[in-house]
Amino acid sequence: MTHASTPPNFIKNIITEDLKSGKVDKVITRFPPEPNGYLHIGHAKAIWVNFTLADEFGGCTNLRFDDTNPLKEDVEYVNSIKEDVKWLGFDWEELHFASDYFEEMYNRAVVLIKKGKAYVDDQSADEIRETRGTLTEPGKNSPYRDRSVEENLDLFTRMRAGEFKNGEKVLRAKVDMGSPNINMRDPVIYRIAHATHHNTGDAWCIYPMYTYAHPLEDAIEGVTHSLCTIEFEDQRPFYDWVIAETEVEAAPHQYEFGRLNVAGMVTSKRKLKLLVDQGIVDGWDDPRMPTISGLRRRGYTPEAIKNFVYEAGISKAQGTVEIAMLEHFIREDLKLRAPRTMAVLDPLKVVITNYPEGGPELLEAENNTENPEMGSRQIPFSREIYIERDDFMENPPSKYFRLFPGNEVRLKHAYFIKCNEVIKDEEGNVVEIHCTYDPETKSGTGFTGRKVKGTIHWIDASAAVPSEFRLYEPLISADNTEEEEEAESVEEKTFLDQINPNSLRVVHGYVEPGLQGAKPHDKFQFFRHGYFNVDSKDSKPGSPVFNLIVSLKSSFQLPKNK
Ligand code: ATP
Ligand code: MG
Repeated sequence: MTHASTPPNFIKNIITEDLKSGKVDKVITRFPPEPNGYLHIGHAKAIWVNFTLADEFGGCTNLRFDDTNPLKEDVEYVNSIKEDVKWLGFDWEELHFASDYFEEMYNRAVVLIKKGKAYVDDQSADEIRETRGTLTEPGKNSPYRDRSVEENLDLFTRMRAGEFKNGEKVLRAKVDMGSPNINMRDPVIYRIAHATHHNTGDAWCIYPMYTYAHPLEDAIEGVTHSLCTIEFEDQRPFYDWVIAETEVEAAPHQYEFGRLNVAGMVTSKRKLKLLVDQGIVDGWDDPRMPTISGLRRRGYTPEAIKNFVYEAGISKAQGTVEIAMLEHFIREDLKLRAPRTMAVLDPLKVVITNYPEGGPELLEAENNTENPEMGSRQIPFSREIYIERDDFMENPPSKYFRLFPGNEVRLKHAYFIKCNEVIKDEEGNVVEIHCTYDPETKSGTGFTGRKVKGTIHWIDASAAVPSEFRLYEPLISADNTEEEEEAESVEEKTFLDQINPNSLRVVHGYVEPGLQGAKPHDKFQFFRHGYFNVDSKDSKPGSPVFNLIVSLKSSFQLPKNK
């Protein structure tokens, strides 16, 4: 179950006011990813905020690809983004590409030039940066700032026609080089890039900059509330400037909310791409990745992700939340619907010497002790079984209640067994243990004769399905907070240094015969181990691969005052 509306928040209050005052009559939002990578958990928040807010007011949401930078964008990303938004359970009203508006954006730039509000600058990118000033000092006017309208129009037309090389000229908005807001100091609004665009091919060699393009995209689509993350706050004055000066009809407004940061999860596409490009992970959908596709392959559900972002809430604050909170919501979601079965991840053979030879006995096992509606299944039991290697110790410490010579334990859904003999190889490794069982102690018969302290799981050796288990730890150390200001190369190195070398461990063991035909994305709780998902890429009928979603235990608690 997920929430149909957002929790109380400031944007909701604004929308309520806007509808009441008649400023807007239908709420239109948009989710505007740049198709330069796969979506991550942070985007899930932006998607949820945009779609849920519009929906709860009877409005709608567009999916718009903000594809104004041909150098980094690709259709692979376009397709993955569509898939991820749909998988999260959201339906967009209209699908748009910012690149479909290039002509309109060009015409609006001509409007600016004609009004004397934009000019072609011949300075290099470095010169422009150097003359931009600082937080305490104003910028310096470009020597080209006062070009005539005619000259600007001529140069801009020739920029479009491909007469100049990359970087030779830019178009800048003519705002105020002395503005206390650096973003208002004549920002570049068009640059030359001789590059093939994934959508427009070679039709253009000049491309609009994001800060100029975005307000126009919103205006063209009639977006009423343009919701973005807090780092765009300083851009809002320029957003409003573009809306006012380009003389578009619609008047969208930008509102900023705090980013979702999860401790120990990278939410920067650039860093995620680095992990993919360096082969540190097996693609964007590697189950260790905080991408939507990675979380899906890991076994997270849309419900868990949506309940998580709901709990994180919508505010201006840039809070960092714990992975434990995300894990809490997947456990909650799977608790009552994932079948509970047994799996042995590190097998040790047990021979039950007094158990008759021959075909297995079928034992009744409940599928989910917390949800009787899930019924029960029959599991085979015979003379040879596998148990978990660490459920046996030859010389146990005190308080060890599992199997050791002379001790008796309960086999889940089956009988009590007692360890009598330990078989070792020449090097002294335990290869097999011999036990006896007590037929009186069969599970479900109400046996009360004596008690044992340990209950362990097992798999019948004659029917065990060989399986691969992929066990995960966080990909990076949890104290890695996002430091966007650092120099990129230094940052990349320190980032790569934080990779956990043990983030993936592959083990081979067995599952119950009923899981022989498990299908991709089937989810199970393996007794005492955790929740697992059938891998969507590598699992094959007869030799399944299970990804650990999350272990069973957690000390995490939701804040009580909510
Ligand atoms: P990156 O900077 O890593 O490339 P981005 O934020 O620029 O990512 P976009 O494709 O531009 O990626 O993002 C689309 C939308 O998702 C934007 O409105 C952005 O504000 C929002 N978004 C991105 N990251 C987060 C996050 N961590 N929390 C909430 N919203 C986010
Ligand atoms: Mg961006």
